[in-house]
Amino acid sequence: MTKKISIIVPCFNEQETIPLFYQAVNALIPQLRDYTLEYIFIDDGSSDNTLLELQNLNKDNPQNVHFVSFSRNFGKEAALYAGLQTATGDLVAVMDVDLQDPPEQLPLMLSGILDEGYEIVGTRRVNRKGEPPIRSFFSILFYKLMSKISDVPMIQGVRDYRLMTRKVVDSILEMSEYNRFSKGIFNWIGFKTKYLEYENRDRVAGNTSWSFWKLFRYSIEGIVNFSEVPLLIASFAGFFTFALSILFMLFIIARKIFYGGSVNGWASLVTIIVGLGGVQLFCLGIVGKYIGNIYLEVKNRPLYIVKEKK
Ligand code: UDP
Ligand code: MG
Repeated sequence: MTKKISIIVPCFNEQETIPLFYQAVNALIPQLRDYTLEYIFIDDGSSDNTLLELQNLNKDNPQNVHFVSFSRNFGKEAALYAGLQTATGDLVAVMDVDLQDPPEQLPLMLSGILDEGYEIVGTRRVNRKGEPPIRSFFSILFYKLMSKISDVPMIQGVRDYRLMTRKVVDSILEMSEYNRFSKGIFNWIGFKTKYLEYENRDRVAGNTSWSFWKLFRYSIEGIVNFSEVPLLIASFAGFFTFALSILFMLFIIARKIFYGGSVNGWASLVTIIVGLGGVQLFCLGIVGKYIGNIYLEVKNRPLYIVKEKK
């Protein structure tokens, strides 16, 4: 029996890139030894002709092109999960459709798994050429922070682009959490992993759908789902201000004893009240974010809703 590689491709408003992607990856088939390819495209609630594009591809190649179309935009994380659930291959790859993930890495990944015995071969970008400097700055900051405060290692510039064995995919599928942060999940499961490196490149067509705000929220999710350090910070802030207030109280008592005195200190009182209020609200916010995530988790809603599947 021939073996199969499933390629999971999340698409959000990608009508221009899909045909280019399909062509580029198909050209690789001769280099994939005797593996056949299965495409699982996920239409993540696109508002352009992405779905039409996928329907046509499927009509022409009903054997090896499949798609799942969501009822609305559920985000790339949900799309990846749907793809992993649908994939039937012995090996499974995750790949962006905009060709920013170089397809020519795929044969190298395959060799990493078949010849070198890795379970996961991922990729990381060694530079961020062509990316807005402000975005690079915050990304780098995020990875630094994340690897300090989370329980799983975070490697600078790691992409979702990777090839995994069936064992790995099944482990990921067992993590059915609602708040998904793939970069964390991929690391959390472990397994022998190798990273190939490549230089950043621009997308072939279309535009990135990640606004600064979307990326910011994504990084907050990453932190909250893979670290308890913010909760520690909240407790520490509480402890610190409490200690400070004791010191201040001692100071006031001493002043009263040694200097006697009048009723003053109005300004310092107001400052303390406002300052403490700020600290309390900040800590409440942190705790609230965690509780919010618990709330979403216990509601146990599906991660996505399928409109059409072929
Ligand atoms: N994507 C998706 N859902 C979204 C946003 C993006 O499925 O809500 C897909 C998109 O079609 C692409 C991949 O995720 O295949 C990466 O997105 P993009 O190229 O916009 O991100 P960037 O490369 O700029 O990080
Ligand atoms: Mg991209």
